[in-house]
Amino acid sequence: METCIFCKIIKGELPAHKVYEDEDTLAFLDINPTSAGHTLVIPKGHYANFEEVPEDVLKKTILIVKLIGQKLKDGLGVESYNVCENNDEAAGQLIPHIHFHLVPRYKGDGLKPWPQAPYAEGKAEEVLKKIKIN
Ligand code: 5GP
Ligand code: ZN
Repeated sequence: METCIFCKIIKGELPAHKVYEDEDTLAFLDINPTSAGHTLVIPKGHYANFEEVPEDVLKKTILIVKLIGQKLKDGLGVESYNVCENNDEAAGQLIPHIHFHLVPRYKGDGLKPWPQAPYAEGKAEEVLKKIKIN
């Protein structure tokens, strides 16, 4: 896609610190990392989100996420990491080319995930009626 920053990185029109590349997938350092080694993994095809990405492409992409996660541990001594995909704008997706963040984490690093609270009485059942698959 012409205007997509990540497509431009794939085509070599914008620079990036590439961690891994094959025919279908690219992994590169996030320009603005949460912590050192923060890596983005993307399919080379332009798909905005989970709804658009074909299953075979998604499988290849997620296997590279696993590969990079292991390399962060082995190469960088990362203790743990979060894998995150912000799916659409309201979830914080700024670049509409599906990408998985690998964010290195350390005990006591102080990074807090989103807040959580228990369901009000009956709410979990109400939600479940709408989304239960089997
Ligand atoms: P999102 O909010 O869409 O899930 O994440 C987009 C990520 O892309 C952000 O973490 C941001 O720092 C990163 N990013 C934006 N522009 C560039 C760029 O030109 N190069 C690289 N390497 N990362 C970028
Ligand atoms: Zn793109």
